[in-house]
Amino acid sequence: MTLDQLALRVKKFPIKESFRDEEVGLRCCELALDALSSGNYGVGAVLLDANGYVLIEENNAVFSTRFCSSAHAEMRVIDKYESDFRETYPPGQLKLVVSLEPCPMCLSRILLSGIGVIKYLVKDSAGGMVERMSDMPPAWQNLANLQSFYHAHASDELCQLALELSQHNIVYLREALMKQRGNEK
Ligand SMILES: [Zn+2]
Repeated sequence: MTLDQLALRVKKFPIKESFRDEEVGLRCCELALDALSSGNYGVGAVLLDANGYVLIEENNAVFSTRFCSSAHAEMRVIDKYESDFRETYPPGQLKLVVSLEPCPMCLSRILLSGIGVIKYLVKDSAGGMVERMSDMPPAWQNLANLQSFYHAHASDELCQLALELSQHNIVYLREALMKQRGNEK
C-alpha cells in the first residue's frame, strides 16, 4: 500500500462511535500519517486531560531536520507536558493515547512521568515493552502498578490502520537509522 492510499484511508475513515477511544485513536493515526509524510516512523500520540480534552498532540520526529534518537511521539508529548502543563494538570489525572505499543525507552519515560492511564491501539510484537512489563526491573514494575495500561477501545479496522501506519516504510527507516551510526559494514 502506498502512502497516498494510506492517507486516503485515514481521511475517509468511518468512525464507529460505539468505541470509546475511536475518535482519539483516529487522531493518533492522522498524526502517524503526518510523521510518515515527513520521513519519520508512523506513530502518533495524544495527551488528554481528565475531561477528555486534548492537551498535546505529537508524532514521531526522529528524522526531522536533524536526527534525534529520542524524538518518539510519546517522548515529545511528555517533554511538552513537563515544560508547559505540569503545574496545571497533575499527571495522575491524564490519559496518553498512542497508535502503537510504547517501546522500552518510551515505557520507561511514561513510568517516570506518572501519567495515570496509557492506551495504545496496536501491540508491537517486535519492539513494544508494555506487554513485556514483567521483564522490567522490579523498581520499574512497582511504578507500573501505580498506572493503568490498556488496549484502546477502538474498532478492529482502526487498529489495523494503526498497524499498517506503523509498518509503512519500515525497511527504509531501519536503513536510515543504521546510516546514522556511521559504522556500516
Ligand atoms: Zn518509543
